[in-house]
Amino acid sequence: MSETTTSDTSDRPVVFRGGTVLTMDDRHTVLRDADVLVIGERIEAVGPQLDVPAETLEIDARGGIVMPGMIDTHRHLWQTAMRGYGADWTLTQYFVWYYLESGKFFRPEDIYAGNLLGAIEALDAGVTTTVDWSHGLQTVDHADAAVDALEAVPGRFVLGYGNIQQGPWDWSAKPEFRDFVTRRIDGRGDMLGFQMAFDVTGDPEFPERAAFEVARDLDVPVSTHAGVWGATNDDGIRLMHENGFMTPSTIYVHAATLSPDSYNRIAATGGSVSVSTESEQSAGQGYPPTWRLRQHDIPVSLSMDTSAWWSGDLFSAMRTTLGADRSREHLEAHARQETITHCTLRAENVVDWATRGGSKALGLDSAIGSLEPGKKADVVLIKNDRSPVMFPIFNPYGHVALQAQRGDVHTVLVNGRIVKRDHRLVGIDLDRARQVVEQTVDYLKAELGEEAWEKGMNPDVPQVEVLDNPYTYTDYGTSATHSNSAE
Ligand SMILES: [Zn+2]
Repeated sequence: MSETTTSDTSDRPVVFRGGTVLTMDDRHTVLRDADVLVIGERIEAVGPQLDVPAETLEIDARGGIVMPGMIDTHRHLWQTAMRGYGADWTLTQYFVWYYLESGKFFRPEDIYAGNLLGAIEALDAGVTTTVDWSHGLQTVDHADAAVDALEAVPGRFVLGYGNIQQGPWDWSAKPEFRDFVTRRIDGRGDMLGFQMAFDVTGDPEFPERAAFEVARDLDVPVSTHAGVWGATNDDGIRLMHENGFMTPSTIYVHAATLSPDSYNRIAATGGSVSVSTESEQSAGQGYPPTWRLRQHDIPVSLSMDTSAWWSGDLFSAMRTTLGADRSREHLEAHARQETITHCTLRAENVVDWATRGGSKALGLDSAIGSLEPGKKADVVLIKNDRSPVMFPIFNPYGHVALQAQRGDVHTVLVNGRIVKRDHRLVGIDLDRARQVVEQTVDYLKAELGEEAWEKGMNPDVPQVEVLDNPYTYTDYGTSATHSNSAE
């Protein structure tokens, strides 16, 4: 059958023909010149030259890589309306802006706007499952708006319910919170999962206990920013452990400044860490911890945290995580006067973390995370015939981790439905997202005032003291670095 652009394609089987297939099954089987057949919501078959039903839609995957949809286990989608605003922030500036000063201005429609744009952005980048770590839910109306947006986008989501304006013991105790879970989450299956999202401060009174008890009562996982320099530390982990609230479904976000004892507690209780390397590298939570997590055999998934600072695609996450891990391994060796001759962390590992790492962390591994018959069809085709970067492909894991980018995402299926095809989103109203984001930005600018708006985006630059250099004798004062130092 020839390719068509009609909207009725969702009911037809789909076959990807002739691609390099990264199955990401347990053996990490890679198939060259192979097909992936999708019927209904599920993957029907993976292999060479598959026989397919007569009405099947054929997608030419030759020259491309077919892989499972990627899984982001920690993304504050509501912040997407502030895209890039905090590009030069530290974590301190982020906390001041969102937690103390401006976060409280966000209305339900502003949560909706950020979520809508961020959810679309994820699908465009081949991220088929996103944990919406939604800690701006000041009221249940905000939470309804968050889910309204997620339901308007044909992706797979997990709502991490949180509220930075209140203690988790407060918001989780409210009857309307439980009512919300019943009303909006129950019965949605693997298209809309649920977590509780809150942090543990280390207060010896452990006020978070009540929220953990609600999570246990509802039988839902908890995700928590752990090991964040200056915010959460080993005390929080110890309190969770001593009180029996560390479980295999617990996700520890960042976990970048923890002691070996805390890592041992995480490993022993079977939880996983969501690593946001771009975030940890520039915000200051701590060094991206994969080099340590490997030593403790702690499972890893990847995440992008927030588009208020960083990119929202997992290509960036894979690339920066691979680089940060290797960088640290070299650095540690050099401190011992040793040379690393063989890289421990491979491109294959970060592709695994971006797919299976996520499906396992979310308890969805029987449904998604790999291209295997019977699994839900979350499929990404990376292919770009107009790009000089698509050939040759020798190491397909290396290609995904270090060569590819979101513009190379050709086709995306979620739950068997085509949501992007030929580099274009399908059945998604980007204009509507633009409209609501503009309204949110106009509102926030008015609420903050022009001066505060500009100041928030442009924090002061600390003075840099340039060291004395005994070799400096030429005046080349026109160079950019030199003129900066003379200020
Ligand atoms: Zn976060």
